[in-house]
Amino acid sequence: MSFSSDCKEELCRVPCDKSCCRMAELTALYLCLGSLSLLGQGRLSVRFAVESPAIARRIYRFVQKETQIAAQLQYVTHARFGGTREYVLTIGPNDAPALLESFDMMTAGASPMLLSTTPNVRLNRACCRHAFLRGAILGCGTLVNPEHAYHLEFTVKDDKLRRSILKCLQNLQIPVKRSSRRNALSLYVKQSEHIITILTACGAYQAVTTLESTLVKRQVLGNVNRAMNCDYANLRRQMNAGARQLRLIETLLASDKSLSLPPALQELAQARMQAPDLSLAELGQRLDPPVSKSGTNNRMRRLMKIAREIQ
Ligand SMILES: [Zn+2]
Repeated sequence: MSFSSDCKEELCRVPCDKSCCRMAELTALYLCLGSLSLLGQGRLSVRFAVESPAIARRIYRFVQKETQIAAQLQYVTHARFGGTREYVLTIGPNDAPALLESFDMMTAGASPMLLSTTPNVRLNRACCRHAFLRGAILGCGTLVNPEHAYHLEFTVKDDKLRRSILKCLQNLQIPVKRSSRRNALSLYVKQSEHIITILTACGAYQAVTTLESTLVKRQVLGNVNRAMNCDYANLRRQMNAGARQLRLIETLLASDKSLSLPPALQELAQARMQAPDLSLAELGQRLDPPVSKSGTNNRMRRLMKIAREIQ
């Protein structure tokens, strides 16, 4: 399972206790996945075409709770698209008016009239805005696996849906980018902390945990790499210094001056010849008796000064 489908499965389990929020989520789902069919003689039906059974069950439950209508559920297999399955919920002509009335798409009464082909969106309360976003993620959202990138995208075909998603995200102070592809517009969010804010608002806490642990993992990896690069740079510097000293010492030992070197410097010169790669601290430990790093450094400076004089 992908991160996106895991997250949607989780969103389908988020409890939604208030009627206002159920309607807000259902409105988003309708704008993403719903459609209205005209059957002739003023008869209408409503249809939701859904990618996963969990989303279909959630829509079924919400419709039933809000309107006492039991939708019909069908499984449709599309032979043309590699046998992809679609779950279709239909609210037939007898029940459709009641559902459309609850969406403010139709007037109530004995001779109902269609007012709009899309539901009225109510986003005044924060709870409903969060529920709307949950519906929008379920209906038209995609999340990229955080191991690869931080990316939450809404593929939006309807203008009302686009404006409503933007309003919800603006309320959470989340900057949104947009791009258009053929007949659909994409709204997307790229920063991990903003995706975390959205998922937290929607109640997808498990997905938030996954995202946060990926963030930590990436941070640790970055630190380790930086430390390794730093160690490598130190090592290279040390080896370069060792090689430089070695060249000077070789010249010095080949000259007459080597005979007049004090024994302490003589010993250090020999030690360096035998171990060109060691740091000064390590080199000092090889002397008899061992000498501290600063002591070795001091001796090495004197040795180098004499060697440079010969050059
Ligand atoms: Zn609400």
